[in-house]
Amino acid sequence: MSNLGPVVRRGFATEQIHGAETPHGAATQSPHGARIAPIHLTAGFVFDDVDQAEARFRGDDDGYVYTRMGNPTNADVEARIAGLEGGASALLLASGQAATSVATLGIVGAGDHIVASAHLYEGTRGFFQDNLGRLGISVDFIDDPTDLAAWTAAIRPETRLLFAESISNPTAVVLDIAAIARIAERNAIPLVIDNTLATPYLLRPLEHGAHIVVHSASKFLSGHGQALGGVVVDGGTFDWARAGNRFPHLTGPDRQLGGASFVERFGAGAFAAYTRGVVAGRFGPSPSPFNAFLVRQGIETLSLRMERHCANALAIATWLQKQPEVSLVRYPGLDGQSPVRVRRYLPRGAGSVFSFELRGGAAAAADFIHGLRLFSHMSHLGDVRSLVLHPESTSHVARSESERLAAGITPGLVRLSVGIEDVSDLIADLDRGLDALHAPATSTSLPSAPAAQIA
Ligand SMILES: *Cc1c(COP(=O)(O)O)cnc(C)c1O
Repeated sequence: MSNLGPVVRRGFATEQIHGAETPHGAATQSPHGARIAPIHLTAGFVFDDVDQAEARFRGDDDGYVYTRMGNPTNADVEARIAGLEGGASALLLASGQAATSVATLGIVGAGDHIVASAHLYEGTRGFFQDNLGRLGISVDFIDDPTDLAAWTAAIRPETRLLFAESISNPTAVVLDIAAIARIAERNAIPLVIDNTLATPYLLRPLEHGAHIVVHSASKFLSGHGQALGGVVVDGGTFDWARAGNRFPHLTGPDRQLGGASFVERFGAGAFAAYTRGVVAGRFGPSPSPFNAFLVRQGIETLSLRMERHCANALAIATWLQKQPEVSLVRYPGLDGQSPVRVRRYLPRGAGSVFSFELRGGAAAAADFIHGLRLFSHMSHLGDVRSLVLHPESTSHVARSESERLAAGITPGLVRLSVGIEDVSDLIADLDRGLDALHAPATSTSLPSAPAAQIA
C-alpha cells in the first residue's frame, strides 16, 4: 500500500491537518520556525522594486499585492479546502453568502436565468430572487429537486447556472448530484453545489460531476461558531469555451488582459481568476486573515467532529421516531428514507442537520423549544454545540404560507443541528422538551414568547 510512489493520495484526516503544507510544515513560512502558519494581519505587501511591483500588477508574478486579492493565511486555508473537496483551487471569502454571491456573479449577467432547487438556505433564495432580480437576472425554483424532468423542463436558452444544496437546509433532501450534473453538461451550463451541510468529509460534489462548490465555512468547517467564512471551490472542469458565447466575460476580449480572454490567459483557471480578481476583488467581501486562521483551526478536526455529529444525529433521529408527540422525522440516515441516494452519496453518514414535526403544530414547537436547556435556540448550524430553531417563525417567516408548505416547512416543524456532546445528555434534553408539551402552563407562540421557561 505504501509503495504506490510519491503521488499516492493521503487520507482525509491527514489532509485536513497537513494538506497545504510545504515538506517542512509551516516552518518555511515563518522566519522563527513557528509550526503553525502565522496570521498575516496586513493590508498590503511591500514590493522589492518597481519591476516587481509592475510584474505583480500585470499578473506575471504571483506574489502578494493587497489582502483583498490574496493573503498567505487565507491562501493556506484555500489550498487545504481545495484539496479536501478535490478541486483545482479555492477562494476564501468573508461569509457563506459572499461565497454564493461571488460564485453566481462570476457566471451570470443581466438577461441570464438560473434554475435552482426550492430547498435552499433562505439567504441564497433571497439573493437569487431579490438582489439578482433587480439586476435583470431571473430564477426558477424546482419544488422537488429529486424530480429530474423538472430540472430539464425549467432550462431555457438563457439559462446559465444550475444551483442546489447537496443536503438541503432544513428538510435534508439528498440531491442526485450526478444526474443533475449530466443535465448541466448536456445543456453546457455549470452546476454549483452548496455543500455546507455535508462537508467534504461526507460528500465531495466535484467527484460526482458538479463543477463548482460553495460553502458557508461558518458552519461545520469551523465548528466552533466563532467566525464567519465562506469558500468557492472551482473544479476546473467546466469548459467555458465549449459553451459558445454564453459566458462572454470569460471567453471574450478583456480590457485588463490586453484584449485576451480569461480562458485564453488562464485556461481551466479562468473562472477562478475572474471570481478572485474581478468579482471578489471589486465587490470586496474579503475575509480577515484572523478569521481564516479560525476556520483553519476548525478544519483540522473536521473528520472527527463529523463522525460524532452523524452518530449523535442518527441516535437522536431514531429516538425521536419513537416518540408519540412526533409525527415525522426527516433524517436521510434513517432506514427507508431515500436509501439509494444515501448509499451512493453519504456512505459515511447523513450529517447532523435535520427537522422533525410535532403533532401539536406551532404551539407545541414553542413549548418544546422553551423546555430545552442544553440545545441553544438560535439561527446557526454545524456547531459543536447542539442548536434548535423553529423555521416557520424564523428563517422562513418571510415566505407565504403556500411557499412554506411547498418546501415542507409546516407549523410543527423543528430543526435541529445536533452537536458533539454526549448523546445521552442530548436525548435527556429533548425528552425534557417533549415533557413541556404536557405541562399545565399555557403555550405561547414563538416570535413573541417570553423568555420564562416551562418547568
Ligand atoms: C449558513 C448557510 C449559508 C450562508 O452562510 P453565512 O456564512 O451565514 O453567510 C449558506 N448556505 C447554507 C446551506 C447555510 O447553512
